[in-house]
Amino acid sequence: MIFKNSLEFAQSLDKKDPLNRFKEAFHFPQIDGKDVIYFTGNSLGLQPKSTKKFVDEIMEDWKNLAVDGHFYSNKPWWDYHERLAPPLAKVVGAKITEISVMNSLTINLHLLMVSFYRPKGKRFKILCEEKAFPSDQYMFQSQVKFHGYNPDDAIVEIKKREGEHHWHMEDVLNKIQEVGNELALVLIGGVNYYNGQVFDMQKITKAGREQGALVGWDLAHAVGNVNLQLHSWGVDFAAWCSYKYMNSGPGNASAIFVHERHLTDENMPRFEGWWGTKKESRFKMEPQFEPIGTADSWQISNPPVLALAPYLASLEMFEEVGMASLIEKREILVAYLAFILEEISRELETDFEIITPEDRGCQLSVFLHGEGKSLHKYLHQNGVITDWREPNVIRLAPAPFYSSFEDMFRFGQILKQGILN
Ligand SMILES: *Cc1c(COP(=O)(O)O)cnc(C)c1O
Repeated sequence: MIFKNSLEFAQSLDKKDPLNRFKEAFHFPQIDGKDVIYFTGNSLGLQPKSTKKFVDEIMEDWKNLAVDGHFYSNKPWWDYHERLAPPLAKVVGAKITEISVMNSLTINLHLLMVSFYRPKGKRFKILCEEKAFPSDQYMFQSQVKFHGYNPDDAIVEIKKREGEHHWHMEDVLNKIQEVGNELALVLIGGVNYYNGQVFDMQKITKAGREQGALVGWDLAHAVGNVNLQLHSWGVDFAAWCSYKYMNSGPGNASAIFVHERHLTDENMPRFEGWWGTKKESRFKMEPQFEPIGTADSWQISNPPVLALAPYLASLEMFEEVGMASLIEKREILVAYLAFILEEISRELETDFEIITPEDRGCQLSVFLHGEGKSLHKYLHQNGVITDWREPNVIRLAPAPFYSSFEDMFRFGQILKQGILN
């Protein structure tokens, strides 16, 4: 498609966009009485207008039914979480039995590492990407130490090449080969939070498993953003949060994927609690743990239903729209944003360097050479919410659910003004 940096052109793309109407389905913060242009859906997604109804429903049931709400409310609480698994399974390409919603992300990754990081003999190494999200780094270090190893020996990072900002697949695969039979676990962010790169999860999973390692993915920036086929790719396990592209609200519930092949493994070590035991016998309060036999076996506590309500509201929207059409729109939208940035860079003879490689999802990370934090402030004052990382990287993630082509054009105009100022 040949793009144009004009309002008419942007509006013509919006007219053709079947998802355009969903902008109306979200609440936008306002600056100076106008809806903002929102680029931080990779950090905290906007609130769907339908969310409040789902939360109010729980509040009403609690008010009117109290403890009876567990079994006699319209959506009973004791198995409320089971409503989330079918739509989520579609979002991540899994079987329903492979999904469970619980806890928050780093907690879930720790719990999954209890099961899937089982260092033994010389097979004790974890492979991850260089400069992984800090929480993941702390997790790796503490897990390794918990097992009595030294992080310097046990954690192997896949490096970027000198002077480059992205990883090469070839280097990832070579590293897997190199660590070989010392490799216990591969655990990488499927979409890197900093440069927006999407890893080839299918190939990496296959390569890791061929070395006899287990392979898991942190999908915080991948879920609701890129195509995922966790089951057919043979991924061992994965976890993600729901407050980024899944629009479920600040710090909200995480979910896990455990591949079918592990669900009935009786030797699987796991930290267990009463919500992982069979429903039929749960309330008999017997000492014997009988795993449910689905990913719910990993559930420990009875779930925070008030937190699950917004997640369910969001999943209804994903169910209605489907990942395929979100991805289709996202590809054009992000390409249009890249085009606008290039146009402005050319016009103003500035040097914007998009460090996100072609394997990308929603996010473009851009080095604004020669610009400083004052530009970020200017954008904010003029109604554009972006994420700024020192020294001068701006992360732009136009979520296809609620971002329009006109937003991209208007952003370009404001950016230009901010640089000229
Ligand atoms: C956002 C994010 C997290 C956040 O972890 P929480 O436990 O939800 O605070 C973890 N890992 C990655 C890669 C992230 O992008």
